[in-house]
Amino acid sequence: MSHIRSEIYQLHDYVPGKSLESVKAEYNLDKIIKLASNENPLGFPFSGEDLKDVLSASVMYPDMAHHPLTDQLAARHEVSSKMVVLGNGSDDVMQMIALSGITKGSEVITSFHTFSLYRHMAHLMGANYIEIPMTDFYYDLDAIAAAVTDTTAVIFIANPNNPTGSMYSYSELRAWLTKIPSSVWVVIDEAYVDFTTQDDSVANMLADFENLIFLRTFSKLYGLAGLRIGYSVANEGISTLMQKTRLPFNVNTVALTAASKVLGNHDYIEKSLAMNIDGKQFIYDQCQAMGLDYVSSHANFVCINVGKSAQKVTQDMLKRGVILRALTSFGLDHWVRISVGTAEQNQMCFSALRDVLSK
Ligand code: PMP
Repeated sequence: MSHIRSEIYQLHDYVPGKSLESVKAEYNLDKIIKLASNENPLGFPFSGEDLKDVLSASVMYPDMAHHPLTDQLAARHEVSSKMVVLGNGSDDVMQMIALSGITKGSEVITSFHTFSLYRHMAHLMGANYIEIPMTDFYYDLDAIAAAVTDTTAVIFIANPNNPTGSMYSYSELRAWLTKIPSSVWVVIDEAYVDFTTQDDSVANMLADFENLIFLRTFSKLYGLAGLRIGYSVANEGISTLMQKTRLPFNVNTVALTAASKVLGNHDYIEKSLAMNIDGKQFIYDQCQAMGLDYVSSHANFVCINVGKSAQKVTQDMLKRGVILRALTSFGLDHWVRISVGTAEQNQMCFSALRDVLSK
């Protein structure tokens, strides 16, 4: 008798953005830029003594509960430290949500054209995965509320959404949340919210809705994608359940130290935000000049209609040393996602794109 869980056969492989190393090897190019995974183009946030402190943390086992980062995050969001759960990237926290809150045969609801890990979590747990069509590149919140049944376990909302960059305000979400039964966990995935501002606080939202879970990451604005650190903020009851599924040492000491330090690195944060605003404007201007449709974005990337096979366009861009993300796996065959880079990277990207699209 086989003991392999049948759910495993349903899982799709995650399609990551191509790495610099793989493209270098395949195309034999000297200069390559990666604008495919929404990382921070400013590079690593530390040098000198700070870098030494970060690396030397690796000699000890991590102690998440007593690491200053937990208290810093609790203070940042004005919640108790028991409401913060740290993960090896926010996708690790997502897995804790799945392991504690999604049962076999239940339903997981989200939108079309969104982050693929939500489907993964549903399938991993043997739940039914339901995708609701978008309206004008926005989650159709009313249709999502209408799709909720007695067996709905979790709703995932990426806000801002990857890959469209569209976003709802907390007041819009509040009105919608009153229609969702409190037995349904609503995950507001805020991986990109640091590039924008919300009209109220996480603490106020959690005070009014006990079924909410906010997800945050240090992978985007904070430049620590490779160190893997993210977290959730939710009420103590949900957080305690999630903690039960967490591996004891899931977040490494280097990541904890780096995350703790980067929150105080105001110079890096301000430069990153300014670079993102300027870069996004440059991308919009280029799209307009080239007559390309794009979705106005609240994040650090722009979703662009290239008018032909995105797979082909991204292949042709690779030959010119630019790694972009084709949105084919997101159900958008003619769209690419361009992460905002440095001014030089953005320029290199668009001169290559002009060339590719003119052929
Ligand atoms: N949520 C969204 C919407 C994302 O786009 C990503 C990264 N691609 C993540 C979560 C995961 O981020 P990480 O695991 O690096 O924290």
